[in-house]
Amino acid sequence: MAQDMRHPIESGCPDGFQYMHPAMRRNYGQWKYHEHPRPGVLLHVANSGEKLWTVKCGTQRILDVFSLRTLTKIGDDFADGYMRFTIRSNVEYVVTDEAKVQPLIDAIEGAGFIVGGTANSVAMISHTQGWLHCDIPGTDASGVVKAMMDELIDEFKGHNMPNRVHITTSCCQINCGGQGDIAINVQHTKPPKINHDLVANVCERPSVVARCPVAAIRPAMVNGKPSLEVDEKKCICCGACFPPCPPMQINDAEDTKLAIWVGGNHSNARGKPTFQKLVAAGVPNNPPRWPEATAIVKRILKEYKAGAKDWERINDWIDRIGWPRFFEVTGLPFTKYHIDNWTGARASLNASTHIRF
Ligand code: SF4
Ligand code: SF4
Repeated sequence: MAQDMRHPIESGCPDGFQYMHPAMRRNYGQWKYHEHPRPGVLLHVANSGEKLWTVKCGTQRILDVFSLRTLTKIGDDFADGYMRFTIRSNVEYVVTDEAKVQPLIDAIEGAGFIVGGTANSVAMISHTQGWLHCDIPGTDASGVVKAMMDELIDEFKGHNMPNRVHITTSCCQINCGGQGDIAINVQHTKPPKINHDLVANVCERPSVVARCPVAAIRPAMVNGKPSLEVDEKKCICCGACFPPCPPMQINDAEDTKLAIWVGGNHSNARGKPTFQKLVAAGVPNNPPRWPEATAIVKRILKEYKAGAKDWERINDWIDRIGWPRFFEVTGLPFTKYHIDNWTGARASLNASTHIRF
């Protein structure tokens, strides 16, 4: 008999069912309805009649081992020994007895964490890795999150927005970038500076040339050594050449800025998913509190809260009032940077006399 084939070594996510609260496992896919009894708490009722209260706890995002121990101990002591992380690094505890909800909330708040982030609140800002884990960031996306959430804490704890608000941040322009109702993304404003002494030893030149989306990089001999050169007129300062070729340094304390985009929406619940659009460019990338970017985000949220109808997401609100009105109410300047004039953008550029509807 032929030997069994060797099974592949799985290195992906472990099976999530083993970590689920038993009541969740028992009723998986069998939910009758859910309610939102108070900010930060969801109640799910199963066809079997079982009820599940989920309490959402906001964290500081980058978690140290002491905070993790505190959070897991709260799970052991007050939530049947189960907890899970959401994709925005919140912690959710699940209990099957309503009497356990308030003591759980008291324990969370007593340990200095916050409860909220459900329904029409400002959810925890999601971020990319930043300086802690990645090798190409131009800002510390996780630091931007902490600084902004400190100022938006009441909007996380309450549910006073017209609809849910998802905010994202991203620390480079090209990779795991943010797309949300409001996104705070890195914006490079100058072409890369090349350290020609290092290129030959560090970079695989053909792959760097191939990486450029606008064909602005060419092989070149500099001081008798093989190197690269950039046609700065073509360069769109995207930073895509920096990861495969670190001697093409594009991060800069002065010229790496933040840009703020709005109206991105993955959901197709009430309309089609939408791409975000740029509303503020050249915002100072100003650690450790990023006050300029935070002020713009707060201004947009204030006008959205005041002007949107119930259930309108930010993109729905802007679609209804129009972009001129958006810039008017938010007081954000409309500049040349808002016009898509890249020559490759023929499909989206309104450059002809044709009228399109
Ligand atoms: S957004 Fe860019 S810099 Fe930030 S973690 Fe992702 S790849 Fe790295
Ligand atoms: S920054 Fe982007 S556009 Fe400019 S040279 Fe590098 S890859 Fe090309």
